[in-house]
Amino acid sequence: MSYKNPLPNYINGEWCISQASEFLNVVNPATAEVLTQVPLSPKSDVEAATQAAADAFKSWRRVPPTDRIQYLFKLKFLLEDHIEELSRTITLECGKTYGESKAEWQRAIENVEVACGIPMLMQGYNLEDVARGIDEMMIRQPMGVTAIIAPFNFPGMIPFWFMPYAIACGNTCIIKPSEKVPLTLQKVFELLEKTGLPKGVVNLVNGAKEVVDAILEHPTIRAISFVGSSPVAQYVYSKGAAHGKRMQCQGGAKNPIIILPDADMEMTTRIAADSAFGCAGQRCLAASVAVTVGEARHIFTDAIANAAQTRVVGFGLDDGVQMGPVITSQSKARIEGLIQQGADEGAKVLVDGRNLKVSGYEQGNFIRPTILQNVDPKSEIARTEIFGPVLGLMHLETIEDAIALVNSGQWGNMACLFTNSGAAARQFRYEAEAGNIGINIGVAAPMAFFPFSGWKESFYGDLHGQGRDAVEFFTQTKVVVERWPKNWSRQF
Ligand code: NAD
Repeated sequence: MSYKNPLPNYINGEWCISQASEFLNVVNPATAEVLTQVPLSPKSDVEAATQAAADAFKSWRRVPPTDRIQYLFKLKFLLEDHIEELSRTITLECGKTYGESKAEWQRAIENVEVACGIPMLMQGYNLEDVARGIDEMMIRQPMGVTAIIAPFNFPGMIPFWFMPYAIACGNTCIIKPSEKVPLTLQKVFELLEKTGLPKGVVNLVNGAKEVVDAILEHPTIRAISFVGSSPVAQYVYSKGAAHGKRMQCQGGAKNPIIILPDADMEMTTRIAADSAFGCAGQRCLAASVAVTVGEARHIFTDAIANAAQTRVVGFGLDDGVQMGPVITSQSKARIEGLIQQGADEGAKVLVDGRNLKVSGYEQGNFIRPTILQNVDPKSEIARTEIFGPVLGLMHLETIEDAIALVNSGQWGNMACLFTNSGAAARQFRYEAEAGNIGINIGVAAPMAFFPFSGWKESFYGDLHGQGRDAVEFFTQTKVVVERWPKNWSRQF
């Protein structure tokens, strides 16, 4: 595939050269090949995109919802028709396997489908005779110009947790992809252009912190959706809120999975390995700590060690590859450093994935699945988000201890339980402090018609992405109280 160099922005229905003076290489993490360059757009590009989005909003909000969703229907079919090229693009710039990239698009498309229900989802409610002869109604109106700031690990899916709802509700929007993976949205915007959406409804600004800060400070932008690491989520949330914006900011995670002795160990191991090592552990819903309870310890430890050792690591477009590289060489070095830190803190490196060279891809950022055994719950490594294919093992004697461990952490993105007991499952569902709960599920990713939840330091805000929460986030409620006395004559 060939790409424009440097990559353009898309503002007001036109592909345009950024005003940037700085550029970053976009690198294939499996080969270290430089694919192209991305501009670090300055504030002036955000200004131009915001102006375009504000101008477009004036007429877009008046387009009936039934007409607005026709563009989304077109987008759904275009995404389906181009899914192979879109998936290859994700694998090339992000590293995950082709199958994992394709799965991203399925969830992205599902969000488009849900947003096509806006004529019903966006309805308000009313009541006649709230007082004698007085009626009251609540209507939902769009917010105006909105913005989406995305992380590197799901370049296709994550913007779709927000964008379809934003525009279906009558807003216009600006999207900033991660500067590490800007190619995927270039392809998406080519498709958005083909839908015939009016100019300015969707805009793309490439870049990094300067773009984010310009978005956070811009008085015209009303609502901002952010997904990324917790320190940045916290910064974005506070700064955006201080500038009076509606914010939803999804942060990082350290997701525990608990394995009870009555779990189906074959299924549990398979699911746990997919959760911990799928997407090279670079999922915000990756299992990063497995806590065995009672007798589960030995059988699970042996089985997961075997699953880690036998996982096929390589370039995500090659047949049979089950796990790709991590995103950058710095990320690889950081993860390998954290494995060493775990060992220094007393954990045993049961399966060591460091210093891996994949034949034919010697420059790639590969790490093999790694297992740290006997991780001390009080150690630094037990709390740090590693964001790589590293699973820490802990052992406890009761489910109560395991739930207490889950609830002691600062994170709250996901917690999962593996068991055959309905009573244990209910106790866990009821008591575990995490926004997404899995019971015999390893990646408890909510479907598009449910909110992608997240608690504690994994989420800053109130309304989440996807589903009804997204509709609430992208609309503001207006309440109208009306009286129309019969005997009033027309005065004009
Ligand atoms: P990141 O925080 O480094 O970057 C996210 C976005 O913020 C990018 O667009 C980046 O350009 C921008 N950014 C980075 N530093 C900034 C700064 N100092 N000021 C302003 N903007 C800045 O995250 P990442 O490495 O791209 O993504 C991985 C992280 O995202 C992990 O922590 C992962 O858990 C998290 N994540 C969370 C969810 C979720 O649903 N909770 C989903 C996916 C990823």
